[in-house]
Amino acid sequence: ISDFYGNASGTRDTILYASCFDANAGVFESLLTENDAIISDALNHASIIDGVRLCKAKRFRYANGDVKDLELQLQKAEEAGCKVKMVATDGVFSMDGVIAPLREICDVVEKYNAVLFVDDAHATGFLGKTGRGTGEYWDVIDRIHLVNSTLGKALGGASGGYTTGHELLVSALRNTSRPYLFSNTLAPSVVGAAKAAIDLVDNPATRTPLLDQLWGNAKLFRDRMSAAGFTLAGKDHAIIPVMLGDARLASDMADRLLKRGIYVIGFSYPVVPKDKARIRVQISAAHSLDQVNRAVDAFIEVGKELSIIS
Ligand code: PLP
Repeated sequence: ISDFYGNASGTRDTILYASCFDANAGVFESLLTENDAIISDALNHASIIDGVRLCKAKRFRYANGDVKDLELQLQKAEEAGCKVKMVATDGVFSMDGVIAPLREICDVVEKYNAVLFVDDAHATGFLGKTGRGTGEYWDVIDRIHLVNSTLGKALGGASGGYTTGHELLVSALRNTSRPYLFSNTLAPSVVGAAKAAIDLVDNPATRTPLLDQLWGNAKLFRDRMSAAGFTLAGKDHAIIPVMLGDARLASDMADRLLKRGIYVIGFSYPVVPKDKARIRVQISAAHSLDQVNRAVDAFIEVGKELSIIS
């Protein structure tokens, strides 16, 4: 994993956890004290929220993806006399399919001499030219101090998580991170499968057709659904939420789609804000274009049945 992110200086190291949830539970408490600050995006994943709860650092929150608000919160942390200021963001926000503006975030982080933490669970293995994630998408891999991610999504879909960053930070985690110290590590079979998945992503001959298929599928779904009149959220990502608003409508639509062989999940409050219920569609490189077309046809049929589109 260290090599995958680039280790030209030889100072990168990586620590494995049983899951990314554990990596997020272990990272903040280990590295930050009550004299420090954690400045967290309002839409960060639940495991980051729990990790922050376990840590004694002062807490600041900025509006989702809002770099101006982030700067304001960094100023507040500075005024409060916090020593280390760690900014924490998802690379991709999983309920919206929205990519965090990491380039602008890096600029602000560096201006305030802060530390940047990115949870890249929804980007590792496929986002960026060679699948190295949100850091590669924005060309800022070397400006991110810590990346946590999962082996359980694009890299094989089993389980496992990790933190990668400077070896001194990783060494501190090895010595103090509770989910690492007090829990069993990954099963060797899972590690073997994840290594094989990384090899597939690392090799242009296997990576290119997979990424072409993924982004071709995502474009087909997005284009046809938009043309049919559905409201979609997100951009440049394979998570494509179909926005419906009403919670009952979202679950009714998901049920009707399942009856037509399309397995999608309706999300409503408290997983997403009130009146922002949606069906989160996740497009995969394992889908064929025919399957994507079948899914869109089913959406159109059910959308008409429920008067979502005309
Ligand atoms: N971080 C984000 C952004 C996620 O979406 C998830 C999984 O849903 C996790 C962390 C947790 O990953 P894992 O399943 O490896 O615990």
